[in-house]
Amino acid sequence: MNEETLFSKIVKGEIPAEILYQDEQVTAFRDINPQAPTHILIVPNKIIPTVNDVEETDEALLGRLFIVARKLAEQEEIAEDGYRLLVNCGRNANQEVFHLHMHLLGGRQLGPMVSRPRR
Ligand code: 5GP
Repeated sequence: MNEETLFSKIVKGEIPAEILYQDEQVTAFRDINPQAPTHILIVPNKIIPTVNDVEETDEALLGRLFIVARKLAEQEEIAEDGYRLLVNCGRNANQEVFHLHMHLLGGRQLGPMVSRPRR
């Protein structure tokens, strides 16, 4: 069994969050430091630290993240205008919480996909 994470504690209701969706597999809640008018984190209830830890048996669970993202985008009324789904993995992507999660970002023009490298 993996150690608890910040997000596994949110999944279990031990740390408060604005939960927007929850089922046996997936939980979604608003990001505490939103980078866009809509910024939701969609997490598997099971702890998978990073994309590097994903296994073949996680296929349906990971697909479910997209189904929940689509439903939430409709609920937030950003589906038509468009939105970004983002998953950070490891150091170069600045992953902060080692419990795999998908960011759902929208509600404004999101600009370029990645920032330019510093000179
Ligand atoms: P990462 O950089 O790992 O892809 O994203 C982690 C995200 O978790 C960040 O956008 C950060 O704002 C969010 N976050 C960190 N701590 C908390 C928290 O306690 N509650 C919520 N709702 N979001 C958090």
